Amino acid sequence: MDKLLAVVGVVAVVAIVFAIRELRVSDRAHRSAEERDRIIGSLQRRLDQLDEDRRATETVVSSMEEGIVLVGSVGGIRLVNAAAERHLGPRPTTLVQLQPMAFREAIRGASSGGSVVAVEVETGAPSRWLRGTAIPVDEDGTVLLVVRDVTEGRRLEAARRDLVANASHELKTPAASIQAAAETIRTAAHEDPTVIPRFAQQLEREAVRLSQIVSDLLDLSRLETGSELHESVALDELLDQEGPRLQESADDAAVQLRIDAPSMPPVRGSARDLSLLVRNLVDNAIRYTRPGGRVDVTLSTDSDDVVLSVADTGVGIPTRELPRIFERFYRVDRARSRETGGTGLGLSIVKHVVENHGGTVNVTSELGRGTCFEVRLPAATA
Ligand code: ADP
Repeated sequence: MDKLLAVVGVVAVVAIVFAIRELRVSDRAHRSAEERDRIIGSLQRRLDQLDEDRRATETVVSSMEEGIVLVGSVGGIRLVNAAAERHLGPRPTTLVQLQPMAFREAIRGASSGGSVVAVEVETGAPSRWLRGTAIPVDEDGTVLLVVRDVTEGRRLEAARRDLVANASHELKTPAASIQAAAETIRTAAHEDPTVIPRFAQQLEREAVRLSQIVSDLLDLSRLETGSELHESVALDELLDQEGPRLQESADDAAVQLRIDAPSMPPVRGSARDLSLLVRNLVDNAIRYTRPGGRVDVTLSTDSDDVVLSVADTGVGIPTRELPRIFERFYRVDRARSRETGGTGLGLSIVKHVVENHGGTVNVTSELGRGTCFEVRLPAATA
């Protein structure tokens, strides 16, 4: 941008110098009035062109996402684009009025040191992170400050760090159990062979748990990049396919499962991801319902949406916990989640699938009475 402004300025000066010189030469040589008119016409065209270039430059600068502030050698502010006003507040006229202070210091540093100075600061309410890069653009100390909002990038970076820390923590427990069980078999089996089946069972259980966490993490990372929405998926047929497996889980938990899935308009999306959604919601409903309880899975339509509802008569979720249950690795009842083979990732997977399909998910719950998850997905338009 600075180069563009400099080029426009230089071209203007050169054009005018050339035009004046041509006029003088013309006078000296007593050229005709037509000759002068021709030169004036050419000068006018050049000025029009320069004006057009200036307007194009202004359009580019004002529509940039990055904030631009051009600070002259004596601290006067020569240019502030719209994005800079959005990021930094009302247009400053001198450097001392520029906020935040860290940017002023960066500009002074770049101006006196002659090299690029970059800083990141947290500012405003609600707070945002801004990255300011002060670039010396002229030997006279003129500096261009480029301001970018890096809040989202920082949030993603923090989420990635959290995920790595949480995943490592989750994987450590079954890994330690596997190590302990293997050691017991190795050291104690020759004295007491009965430890073998017991600890082999522990090995198997923890290995299954490890592979479930890894499989959920892989699903999540795939879903974070979006779902392939190429298929036309009939949720009633999908429930038919999942039915036997879900019924088996319900039977094992002595929970009554009822699936009411009349024929539905299809939704556009990924059958694989929608199966994951159904499995996670229904598995949860079964796992958090006591023996003798009941889980109802219902499909219906509402306006242009297909609505999947999974209601249980289980343990329920305290109201204050509801906003957090879709977070990765968040569990209300850690012990019950572990006991029943939970990874803390199921609802995070559900949320991603729903969002990728342009839908919504709602939850209502009453402690000790039960929970109902309602997923709305837009029906496919023909
Ligand atoms: P988990 O693998 O621990 O079940 P999820 O992400 O599937 O992890 O769910 C997050 C938490 O939400 C669970 O640990 C549980 O405390 C709570 N939860 C989810 N579904 C239900 C439900 N149907 N009834 C009661 N609590 C639930």
